[in-house]
Amino acid sequence: MLGRWLRNHPHFLERAYQATNWLFARLNPMITRLGYQRVNRWVNPPEELAKKVVFDCRMCGQCILHSTGMTCPMTCPKNLRNGPCGGVRANGHCEVIPEMRCVWVEAYERSLKMPVYGKEIIQIQPPVNRRLEGSSAWINMLTGEDKKVTDGWKPSTSQAAD
Ligand code: SF4
Repeated sequence: MLGRWLRNHPHFLERAYQATNWLFARLNPMITRLGYQRVNRWVNPPEELAKKVVFDCRMCGQCILHSTGMTCPMTCPKNLRNGPCGGVRANGHCEVIPEMRCVWVEAYERSLKMPVYGKEIIQIQPPVNRRLEGSSAWINMLTGEDKKVTDGWKPSTSQAAD
């Protein structure tokens, strides 16, 4: 209930993301000294708990929430990182689970309420790296693991030019 309310007011989450991002960047020198693997073990449980409550997070380890209207793409029954699929119903509900609103319809609606990151909804996302599943997305962001793409995957022309 609280999670849904927060997701429907994504500008608060956008601020929280900015603050957490800033904090991890500042802590990075210390985390490097302590070791990413060790810190991953400490960060993982609270990250999983907080993101489970707010986003129904599936711990993909490669968080793109700020690019998807603060709506977790892994909650899409097809696990699409670039949606929606072609099966969205006329009422905006999911093809696979008809009683559920399409995750990507909600992602788009929420992105319109996000002044800082809302425009990122049009970015083409690389395929998810299943080897990162269960690890901390924050630590993967610091190590750069979350940006590594599968062999052969190329971003769209517009992104490549950015
Ligand atoms: S994108 Fe990944 S890390 Fe982020 S909320 Fe969804 S499953 Fe969790």
